[in-house]
Amino acid sequence: MEKVVALTKRRGFIFPSSEIYGGISGSTLMMPAAVWAASGHLENFVDPLRQCLGQCKKRWRADHVKGDRCPECGGPLDEPRMFNLMFKTHVGPVEDHASEVYLRPETAQGMFVDFKNVINSTRVRVPFGIAQQGKAFRNEITPGNFVFRVREFELMEMEYFVKPNEDDEWFKYWREERRRWYVEDLGLSPDRLRFYEHPKESLSHYSKQTTDIEYEFPFGWGELEGVADRTDFDLRVHQEHSKEDLSYLDPETNQRYLPWVIEPAVSLERIFITLLLDAYDEDVINNEPRVVLRLHANVAPVQVAVVPLSKKEGLIKVAREVQSSLQGRFRVEYDQTGGHIGRRYRRQDEIGTPFCVTVDFDTLNDRAVTIRQRDSTQQERVPIADLPDRLQQLL
Ligand code: ATP
Repeated sequence: MEKVVALTKRRGFIFPSSEIYGGISGSTLMMPAAVWAASGHLENFVDPLRQCLGQCKKRWRADHVKGDRCPECGGPLDEPRMFNLMFKTHVGPVEDHASEVYLRPETAQGMFVDFKNVINSTRVRVPFGIAQQGKAFRNEITPGNFVFRVREFELMEMEYFVKPNEDDEWFKYWREERRRWYVEDLGLSPDRLRFYEHPKESLSHYSKQTTDIEYEFPFGWGELEGVADRTDFDLRVHQEHSKEDLSYLDPETNQRYLPWVIEPAVSLERIFITLLLDAYDEDVINNEPRVVLRLHANVAPVQVAVVPLSKKEGLIKVAREVQSSLQGRFRVEYDQTGGHIGRRYRRQDEIGTPFCVTVDFDTLNDRAVTIRQRDSTQQERVPIADLPDRLQQLL
């Protein structure tokens, strides 16, 4: 056992959790208070809270309400108080100060605390990134707008470590690259995206500069993703607090330094709700209203639906053959449920399937099928043998 445990650490399969602070066995999403004291989250990860003193007694985030009266009942609001967003709990059977832990409100600290482990177990050279996806928890005062703001979410962050004097150019690079990804790879409308640069006074305690990539939601412009220049703040404070040397030896210059960090951060929930809102559309096909999700093929849960026109055995056999010729190359669904073919098309339109492939009675004679396109509802006849390549072309 010891040999395997040592190997996992040496080669980077599994690191001991929060090792530079003495470790915490059996926990990764929960990190000891020492981590959050060092990172500044105990002191600074706060939102200003105001409560209605009138009838409804509702609580609000002070930066989300205008003036001193409750948006719900018009009653007066009390003075703003700072409210820490981290969930606190205890590990082990004894609830003392030493056992205090916090559910992580960001994945970033794990990557800073493990920085030494990563450097020692991999052969990475600056510039390089550590990316992580996992649950994060925030005790939001006002969760809402569907999954835009929730208390537990799937956070995706990358800490991109660069030379100290190269942060400005990498910051610009990642801002552009993240925007490009949304437009080109996920298909979001470019005119509903914009950059919002945080003024100096609203920056997080660790940030030199932050740009939000905002999307125009039905409830107004809101943050989809944040890109922050965290400088060497986090490595520096963890080095001070843990007394571990977290510097990096640059093999090119033989100099030791703490790398600076550019961090893009976004939750799966915000990407998901944005994709759905951006793709949702209603139109009229053959005098019938239709709901359609115009999802980019990269993110459509089903890319090709194979639909036999009827449940006749001959048709089903060919349809199954068509299905297996596509599987492995595309995300394929086979839909044989009874009912009018139009109903099945509509169902596929509503889940955003870009193409339906229809197997009909002619197929049995001409070994060809019909591709129906979701957006235009245009149809074209294609030999089964050419189908995979033709679909690839269209995607
Ligand atoms: P806000 O000011 O809206 O509370 P924030 O500035 O605190 O947001 P960040 O700390 O920058 O948010 O979080 C990084 C990313 O994590 C956000 O861009 C968003 O995609 C996601 N995120 C943050 N909080 C939530 C939440 N409560 N629910 C879902 N996703 C979230």
